[in-house]
Amino acid sequence: MVVSLDLSDRDKRAALSASAGASFMDEQKKPLIGLSREEMRLVLIEIGVPEKQAKMRTSQIWHWLYVRGVSDFALMANISKVLREMLEESFSIARPEIVEEQISKDGTRKWLMRFPARGAGKPVDIETVYIPEKNRGTLCISSQVGCTLTCTFCHTGTQRMVRNLTSEEILAQLLVAKDRLGDFPDRDTPQGGIAPERVRLVSNIVMMGMGEPLYNFENVKSALLIASDSDGIALSKRRITLSTSGVVPGIYRTGEEIGVALAISLHAVNDELRNELVPINKKYPLKELLDACRNYPGINNARRITFEYVMLKGVNDSLNDAKELARLLKGIPAKINLIPFNPWPGSEHECSDWDQIEKFADFINACGYASPIRRPRGSDIMAACGQLKSESEKMKARERLAMAAMVSGHGDE
Ligand code: SAH
Ligand code: SF4
Repeated sequence: MVVSLDLSDRDKRAALSASAGASFMDEQKKPLIGLSREEMRLVLIEIGVPEKQAKMRTSQIWHWLYVRGVSDFALMANISKVLREMLEESFSIARPEIVEEQISKDGTRKWLMRFPARGAGKPVDIETVYIPEKNRGTLCISSQVGCTLTCTFCHTGTQRMVRNLTSEEILAQLLVAKDRLGDFPDRDTPQGGIAPERVRLVSNIVMMGMGEPLYNFENVKSALLIASDSDGIALSKRRITLSTSGVVPGIYRTGEEIGVALAISLHAVNDELRNELVPINKKYPLKELLDACRNYPGINNARRITFEYVMLKGVNDSLNDAKELARLLKGIPAKINLIPFNPWPGSEHECSDWDQIEKFADFINACGYASPIRRPRGSDIMAACGQLKSESEKMKARERLAMAAMVSGHGDE
């Protein structure tokens, strides 16, 4: 059963979003969210803030935006009314419209957010997923609307690429989740939020939503550096994981310029099969990819690279594949995440049988690798890996029914 807030009419949607601020993200005004401190200082000077004050004002605004989570200049109590009005006139700090919020029976939440068109013709919708677990809460963030790549098992890969998300939009996903969960200190927990006690509800982020983050490098970098800024949201870089299908030059840059944890969508242990499943392999074959992993800064047994491996029946799930996988990763501090394939209508693959997944996992374990099997989460609300597809490309009702029938066999019990 899906607990879905019935948000069919616009008033209710506005009410849902209004808990975060009075108006929606506005493309006519310059965003402050997503700018580095230095960029913010410069735009403040541009609107007439005296140079001597600009650094101090930047720190104040930064605190309001990222520690207190405000999305309305009027709430910035230590900033004069005159300056607040100047800020209001030039800049936007509003949240996007939340079109839909769904809560799965396993506690997973999915938000459908609407961002301005920014040249894409019409506004774009993206999905962000929150996965609560016993000792952590992980937010799965999107980096693009659609994807230019066409991995054969991925639903997003069937969607046309619409545009990159801006750094503001990438951060907005985190800010909206924190709003809706009640994860900002000194703010009321919204109706339907989880708990006011001061645990961090969003303790981890993974760039594993829609899109290839390394094809939107600059915006992803800006957003992640802000999310990990110690005077703001202050997530440790060890708790931020960027997942890539294998954009090798971007992996080197991630290590040097962002410094977050890395996940590689591996899925195959030889070039022939990987060329087919993850076509970017033709450009950056396995050897180059694994060399980049070996050279990733700061990796050791406490900070391992995650290799994601989707289990496709009869395609990549034999014990020979498992053996080859262990051989391939030799010498790389690695953790292997086995992902049962999540089906979608029209997909050409099937998920491996459960006992085959377990045999595969046992084999890898015996070779000394941690190889957790990722339990499908939120599949009743289509929030599981590879199932995200924006509302702009909404499935037909018939497809939804087919999907519901398919996922019912992949429960989250
Ligand atoms: N583009 C990036 C990040 C987004 S995909 C990447 O490819 O790494 C996040 C993860 O979900 C990837 O490992 C991807 O391979 C996996 N995935 C995609 N479709 C899936 C599906 N249908 N079932 C299970 N996992 C899937
Ligand atoms: Fe794009 Fe990642 Fe899906 Fe491949 S798996 S199509 S890179 S989102």
